[in-house]
Amino acid sequence: MDKLLRLSKSCIGDQEKEAVIRVMNEGYFGMGKEVKKFEEELSEFFNKPALCVVNGTAALQLAIEAAGIGSGDEILVQSLTYVASFQAITASGAKPVACDVCNDFGIDIDDAKNKISKKTKAIMPVHYAGNPARLKLIYDFAKKHNLRVIEDAAHAFGSKYEGQRIGFLGDIVCFSFDGIKNITSGEGGCVVSSDENIISAIKNSRLLGVHNDTENRFEGHRTWNPDVTSQGWRYHMSDLMAAIGRVQLKNFEYLKNKRQQLAKIYIDLLSNNPFIKTNTHDYTKIVPHIFVIEVSDEIDRDKLIAYLLKHGIPTGLHYKPNHMLSFFKTDFTLKNTEKIYSKILTLPLHPDLEDSDIHFISKKIKEGVLKCKDL
Ligand SMILES: *Cc1c(COP(=O)(O)O)cnc(C)c1O
Repeated sequence: MDKLLRLSKSCIGDQEKEAVIRVMNEGYFGMGKEVKKFEEELSEFFNKPALCVVNGTAALQLAIEAAGIGSGDEILVQSLTYVASFQAITASGAKPVACDVCNDFGIDIDDAKNKISKKTKAIMPVHYAGNPARLKLIYDFAKKHNLRVIEDAAHAFGSKYEGQRIGFLGDIVCFSFDGIKNITSGEGGCVVSSDENIISAIKNSRLLGVHNDTENRFEGHRTWNPDVTSQGWRYHMSDLMAAIGRVQLKNFEYLKNKRQQLAKIYIDLLSNNPFIKTNTHDYTKIVPHIFVIEVSDEIDRDKLIAYLLKHGIPTGLHYKPNHMLSFFKTDFTLKNTEKIYSKILTLPLHPDLEDSDIHFISKKIKEGVLKCKDL
């Protein structure tokens, strides 16, 4: 029986289990000293203030709201992203304006230019697969049009752009620590920003809008005489989650090296195949969250997916473009996004895979493309 391969997976070990038991023994699952320490460690990692929240979607929503963006406002965002980016925008009351992507799967600034309106308040670039968006271009564009930049960095924990970690240079940068991301806290996320107004707004909004509750909770207290002046949400992180996240952050070097090494093997084995387009990411600098390939026009992608599955290889599709979903349907098409969507598939990638798994998967792909040519 072949080993059961998984597309992605939470990769945790004894240290995470011990950390969870330690918190359980203390009998406090709320936002307390573990979250405080996780935030301190993340702030050190990014060299910038970081706040933890319940998940990456909440991080995006709170970031948008903290920037004063909401009902009647528009945010430019690439359609080729997880539905979380879009839902976070509508949760704030704002409207996502779906933009096309370039061939590197990052937002197409020329298309964004065409879609800008008086209502546009922000642009949300997505660092797809961990590969940094073209930030220089994006920040120049944002400056010119007076827009905030809210980076969806859910895929890009640890990736570097021009020598600096994603998060260090950005305006407001949001990460996810869900089960399969580059590091996990079970569920979780964080917002990184050096804008004090953003940080202090989110400190309140993640705790139902209660003023200054963060400091109290870190001391194991609550605020019994609260004041609330704005909408808040119950979006704080639990100590149980932070304890897992802290171990993952401590072991990040291993997790990062493993992802990079596996991606490099895929590139070595697949990049010369005439029917497959691999990416050109620099895996010494970026930490891949997913590994996506495109098949050439003559390959029936869905047939290839079925062939791989028959051989025990699960694949993914990241993502069905949001403008093709009923809730976010647009009256315009996005040519490049739709073309890319018809030709991509995501291959297994997570730190528990071994080099030999990547060799096996690549071999089956090479066999598969020859069997899946459209006649
Ligand atoms: C995972 C993800 C999110 C949301 O993070 P959650 O922690 O799952 O809420 C947002 N955007 C993208 C692109 C993601 O992949």
